[in-house]
Amino acid sequence: MARTETDRCPGVLAVHQAADGGLARVRLPGGVVSAEQLEVLRVAAAELGDGRLELTSRANVQIRGLDARGPRELSDRLFGVGLLPSMAHERVRNILASPLSGLDRESRYDVLPVAAALDRGLCARPGLAELPGRFLFALDDGRGDLADVRADVAVRAVDERSAVLSLGGLGVRVSWGEVAELMLGAAEAFLAVRDQEWRIAEVPGGEERILERLGLQADEPLDTSTTRVTAGVHGEALVVTVPLGSLTQDQAAVLAGAVGGMRVTPWRSVVVGVGVAGLEGVGLVSAPGSVWEGVTACAGRPGCSKALGDVRADAARLMPAFERDGRRVHWAGCERRCGKPAGEFVDVVAVGDGYLVDGERL
Ligand code: SF4
Repeated sequence: MARTETDRCPGVLAVHQAADGGLARVRLPGGVVSAEQLEVLRVAAAELGDGRLELTSRANVQIRGLDARGPRELSDRLFGVGLLPSMAHERVRNILASPLSGLDRESRYDVLPVAAALDRGLCARPGLAELPGRFLFALDDGRGDLADVRADVAVRAVDERSAVLSLGGLGVRVSWGEVAELMLGAAEAFLAVRDQEWRIAEVPGGEERILERLGLQADEPLDTSTTRVTAGVHGEALVVTVPLGSLTQDQAAVLAGAVGGMRVTPWRSVVVGVGVAGLEGVGLVSAPGSVWEGVTACAGRPGCSKALGDVRADAARLMPAFERDGRRVHWAGCERRCGKPAGEFVDVVAVGDGYLVDGERL
């Protein structure tokens, strides 16, 4: 299926013009952000944008409400702290890694160094700047928290020595020493076999053709079991829920004080070290089972011109009384459902005079 539309994935240099001003998306491979980088992002959001830092379903950060001078000034600031290592590759650094990797007992292998090596390799290959902004790499540390993110190229740890590299439903057992190189090779092979497609799954026979180019044969059944990472203490780490994935200035300031920085998860939460103080006082949630856990929302009004409702305000008002059944909940201002989570979720969509919940009137 060849695409005819232009790839409009926003970045820092390619800012999207939304109804509330410029929207810049800052890629954070592995979700990793140092305390210094977070402080620069916080101040930039206050001085150049609407003050908030939005967490995305790919563990990136967005700043909204940028005025005309915002994008240039923002890119200068991000470059200064290492958040723009390659201008050409900034929109293709889409690398998810298990956020608790190396921090608790569920982690079979610390995939964060592999994610960093993958990112360096990506930025070092000029041809890979041509990847579509939607192309996604994922590194699961074995627990299965990224098993349902529908990455184009994924690996899942088996043990300290090996992992399963997967493209769609095809899996190959590989050693950790070759993982980064094979993931980069798969991305290059995708560019060689695609027409205008954005994802490997869109290319007819794409998975098989890419494995063939890599000289690999699918030989391993995929472990598709999934795990949900909940708020609370996990080994050396604390998972903190960020209501609706939108960090206020106060919240970002508290997190920027965390020694060692933080990791952004794909689930509107962040990982910090155990012992960070002042979280609940600014509205962050460090215990499991809160009404905000697993709840996401698109921009809605006034940020998006297509929105049929102020979904964030409505979600904030209605979630406390919302009946939960264990699934994630996503609020969307229209049927495009931007930012919807991977896997099953309760689908709440604005229809102009209210909301449909899984197709039924709220
Ligand atoms: S789901 Fe609709 S309203 Fe929400 S951000 Fe996307 S286009 Fe806008």
